[in-house]
Amino acid sequence: AYVNGHYQDLRDASVNIEDRGYQFADGVYEVCEIRDGKIVDFARHMARLQRSLGELRIAMPMPLSALLIVLREVVRRNRVGYGIVYLQVTRGVARRDHGFPPAGVKPSLVVTARPLSFAKNQDTAAHGIKVITHPENRWPRVDIKSVALLPNVLAKQAAREQGAYEAWYVDADGYVTEGASSNAWIVTTEGRVVTRSAATGILAGITRAVLIEALAALQLRFEERPFTPQEAHDAAEAFVTASSQIVMPVVAIDGQPVGDGKPGKTTRRLREEFHRFSSFS
Ligand code: PMP
Repeated sequence: AYVNGHYQDLRDASVNIEDRGYQFADGVYEVCEIRDGKIVDFARHMARLQRSLGELRIAMPMPLSALLIVLREVVRRNRVGYGIVYLQVTRGVARRDHGFPPAGVKPSLVVTARPLSFAKNQDTAAHGIKVITHPENRWPRVDIKSVALLPNVLAKQAAREQGAYEAWYVDADGYVTEGASSNAWIVTTEGRVVTRSAATGILAGITRAVLIEALAALQLRFEERPFTPQEAHDAAEAFVTASSQIVMPVVAIDGQPVGDGKPGKTTRRLREEFHRFSSFS
């Protein structure tokens, strides 16, 4: 792990108990996929990081060029060929007091990397995942990739306890917003690929943005609009996107099969083609 200027064994790595990340969840994070030891879509993730930090008025802990060196080094030290790199920035260490700390307190930076099993992920994708629906109960600023994830933790656990992998939030108007850790999509019976606009209610996923470009290049019809759980039930296909899963088929929603209950053909194609549209750093 990289912790505030030092590379440390993960087991020994720790942060100050007065870190505002620990005290108030006063921080943000990013997760990038690692493929062939390379960081996928680094520039886009860093642009989102800068935006999240800006919204919370936390300074960038170091220039992007230095951050790239740190991420690569943590990936290298952990020998990650395929997996993820995690980066967290908090407002820093200060005596516990809700308002911002005095000037001069530096943001804390933690970076970790972990290999994932490519075979296991492919196997999960071959079978597809199940999702449950869950009332939207997060704060409205879900556009900020904050480490304050308690509603997401509870929704994921509810999913797990019902034999599902992901929870889709449903807002007060009855529309799916997104998953607890992914963006939500359907493919209609007419072959239109649908996801909600990033203007409200969701995190602007990097995988989502790259996939929208891919859809145009692959000449697939795309509609940016909200959909209801009922529409998802009646859809031909459904899937989720996230950096750690890329395009992951959804085969059941609240115990009801989507389409024929198997990963859809458009979903599979998008999963296969996705990395043609990513950048590697
Ligand atoms: N929405 C939420 C709430 C998430 O936590 C994530 C994954 N971090 C996403 C969407 C997907 O974003 P990305 O494609 O950038 O990983």
